[in-house]
Formats: sequence, structure tokens, C-alpha cells
Amino acid sequence: MPPPPPNGIPYYATTRPPRAARAALEGATSARVCIVGGGFAGLATALGLVERGVDAVVLVESEHIGYGASGRNGGFVFGGYSLEPAELLRQLGAAEARALYALTLDAVALIRRRIRAYAIDCTPVEGGALLADWFGDERTMRRRQALMNEVFGARWRWIARDELAAWVDSPRYHGALLEPDAFHFDPLAYALGIAAAAERGGARLHEGTRAAAIERRGDGYRVRTARGHVDARHVIVAGGGHLRGLLPALERAMLPVATYVMVTEPLGEAASRWIPSDAAIYDTRFAFDYYHRLADTRLLWGGRISVRDRSPAAVARLLQRDMACVFPALRDARVDHAWSGTMSYARHAMPQLGALADGLWHAVGFGGHGVAPTTVAGELLAAAIASAAPLPAAFARYGLQAMPRPLALAAAQCRYTASQWRDRLREAWPASPRRRA
Ligand SMILES: Cc1cc2nc3c(=O)[nH]c(=O)nc-3n(C[C@H](O)[C@H](O)[C@H](O)COP(=O)(O)OP(=O)(O)OC[C@H]3O[C@@H](n4cnc5c(N)ncnc54)[C@H](O)[C@@H]3O)c2cc1C
Repeated sequence: MPPPPPNGIPYYATTRPPRAARAALEGATSARVCIVGGGFAGLATALGLVERGVDAVVLVESEHIGYGASGRNGGFVFGGYSLEPAELLRQLGAAEARALYALTLDAVALIRRRIRAYAIDCTPVEGGALLADWFGDERTMRRRQALMNEVFGARWRWIARDELAAWVDSPRYHGALLEPDAFHFDPLAYALGIAAAAERGGARLHEGTRAAAIERRGDGYRVRTARGHVDARHVIVAGGGHLRGLLPALERAMLPVATYVMVTEPLGEAASRWIPSDAAIYDTRFAFDYYHRLADTRLLWGGRISVRDRSPAAVARLLQRDMACVFPALRDARVDHAWSGTMSYARHAMPQLGALADGLWHAVGFGGHGVAPTTVAGELLAAAIASAAPLPAAFARYGLQAMPRPLALAAAQCRYTASQWRDRLREAWPASPRRRA
């Protein structure tokens, strides 16, 4: 019998025994802080608060912990934001851009420390992140390396073409840059791990509990849910691309955008033939692939962005074609798992971090590069609430810019398609000397 088609459940959820759901919120409760959303942004804030001695924290999650992008992503843990570093530099100048980038490097280190401190079993693999050169444009790659190392204080290493086969063996690539301080992990296991750590510190987490409304009450807020409410001095809205009908000003300023992931059958020793290193790999196209080997010799492969929903079978077909383009020998590899995830994107591609009113905070818009930035957000918001530390002023530059939904979604899809065509043209006519890094 042929194997069943992928069912849309993220691979990570299939590798652990089912667990009992946390109880939904019933009745009235109060706390100093109420967090909406059990993804990395909400969980990092909850844990950051607990670690600072604020334990009167209630977190409500409409589905289950890690249901959103956080429990279904590619697992890359690396520096930076969805906004390209060169753009960050252009927009903020060297000092502010470097300071903001440094926060993400600190976040990568903090994630590592938390994995160790809370004994989180999320299979971290310390192999760095490899940015593979798709276009054969060494000049642009070298400029990118100089930018990262000289402006952002990173330590990116040039991997020449003749060295590349020790990292990834594909005829597609011409060279690469290695970000050595990066790693990859099982993101759902990490989400569950930090959730448990926050709970052990006193935070109360409720699953199956959608925040339906937020109302001003005295010097705080009431967060209404289907069968209860939370009264809190501070509310943090961290609903990612799944936020609907709660805070229109926030929702108008971001677009829910899908991206896709699949996992192959176990490939045996062929897996380390094509990917001899432990690196997590992506490439220099706008519409890049991202992938890495898993411990059981499967390949986890991600790519594409879209405003359209696709069935798991369609996701599998699409990504399998992309994979065969990089590794022709894997053309017939079976796809066992395929799923999509929803990211939230602001027009400026930077996180939206701030307060809509006194005590009403938001942390959304992390896009496709959010593991470290959500941890940054958690630390900054926890410090703001626990000790009135101001948020870095640079985040205020990336405020809530309203976008008319249907039009903006269509524009985002057009921009993506145009960028795919630009990638193709660039592939056909490589390296123009006037191209920017
Ligand atoms: C397929 C995919 C691959 C990716 N790969 C990477 C990667 O390799 N590396 C990287 O750095 N980033 C990656 N990203 C991006 C990263 O996963 C996200 O930026 C990050 O997880 C966003 O976290 P979040 O907490 O803001 O949102 P989410 O993880 O989406 O969490 C939001 C949560 O809020 C809940 N919620 C929404 N509304 C309500 C409500 N009213 N009441 C209660 N709960 C509510 C949702 O159910 C959801 O669980 C990827 C994203 C996707 C989708």
C-alpha cells in the first residue's frame, strides 16, 4: 500500500507522545500581567517576567502552546531580523543598527542558556547557519561578509566553492558565508520547555482560551474570554499572524503570510552525503530555500511564502520540486510530513514592539526571522514591566503602519512573484558590478 499523504501536522508534534491540554480559563481571575498568545513572543515575555520576580502572570492561548509559527518553523536560531541588515543600517545608521542587531545575538545566547538551565530537550544542533551563494556573485557575498563583521560585529566566515562540499554538496551553489554562532533545534519542544519553565516559576498558562476583547478597567485592563476574564495592570498582545478581531489598530498594521515546510522519509547515509555538516542552510535568493538534516536522517525543507492556503499535498509537491532542484538525486524521496505556518509581517519588515496605551503592550510582526527577535521582545517587555526600563527608541521608528487588507495581501503576493522573477533573471545574467550588497 502506498504511504498516506501528509496530513498537515508539523513533524515536531509527531515525535512526542500526546500530552494533556492545560485547562481553559474558567471564571474571573486577576494578575499583574496578562499575555495573549502562547508562541515564542508571549512565552519569552512570561519567562522573562518570572525570571525577574514577577510571577503574577496569566497567559491565554486560543489553541495550544506552540500552535502558531513558533511550533512549526524551520528551527533556525540566528542573529538578525526579517529586515535585511543592509537596510537596517541604511535606515538607522551604524550605532543604532548595530545595537538592535546585537540584541538578537544576545538572544541567541540566552536561548542556549535557557535550554541548558531548564534542561529543555529540544535537540539543539550546533552547526552554524550557512548562507549559500545561488548566483555566483562573490563580490556581493564578500560585501555582505564585510558588512556583517565590520558593522554588526558578527564573525561570518567565507566558504569558497572548493570547500563547500564539506558543508553541502549541491551543484547549485557557488560558495557560502557561515554564521558560526547559529544553531538549529526542535522549536515546538523549545516552546513547550519555556512554557513549563514559566509555569514552574509561578505563571499560569491556559490553553483553548481565546482572548475575545480587551477593556479598560481602572488603571488596568480586563481581558475577556469565552468563559471568564483576567483583570491585569498590564496586557501584552502577542498573537502573531493568528490575531483576529481583538485590536484593530494592531491587526491593520500587519499581514498574515504563509510559508511552508516538509520533512522527507529517513534518507539513511545519503543524508550526510548531500549535507555532510550540521549547518542549517539557506540561500541568497529573495525566495530562498531553508533546510537541515534531522537526527533520524530525514531532511527538513522549507521555503516559499504565500498569502494563499495550500493543502499539505500541494505543499509537499511544491517543496519536493524545490528540493530536487538543489539535490537532483532526491527527486523521488518520499515526503512524510508537510505543513504550512502563518507569520505576521509589518510593511517595514521589523517587529512591532511598543505600547498602544499605558499598560497595553504589543509584540507582533516578527515575520520569517523571529526566533531570536521574539526572545528580544520578551526580554525588553519583561524589563519594561518589571523595572520600568525604556524600550530602545529605535523600535519606535518601526511603528504601526496601517495596510488595507485585501489590497495589501494582493500587493504582497505580487511583490513576492516579482522577486521570484528577479531571482530568475539574476540567475540567468549573474553579477552586475553595480549590484548592491
Ligand atoms: C513555517 C515557518 C518557518 C519559519 N522558520 C523560521 C526559522 O527557521 N527561524 C526563525 O528565526 N524564524 C522562523 N520563522 C518565523 C518565526 O517562527 C516567527 O517569527 C515566530 O515564531 C513568531 O512568534 P509569535 O509568538 O509572534 O507568533 P506565533 O508563534 O504565531 O504565536 C502566536 C500565538 O497567539 C495565539 N493567539 C492569536 N490570537 C489569540 C487570541 N485572541 N487569544 C489567545 N491566543 C491567541 C495563536 O494561537 C498562536 O499560538 C518561521 C515561520 C514559519 C511560519
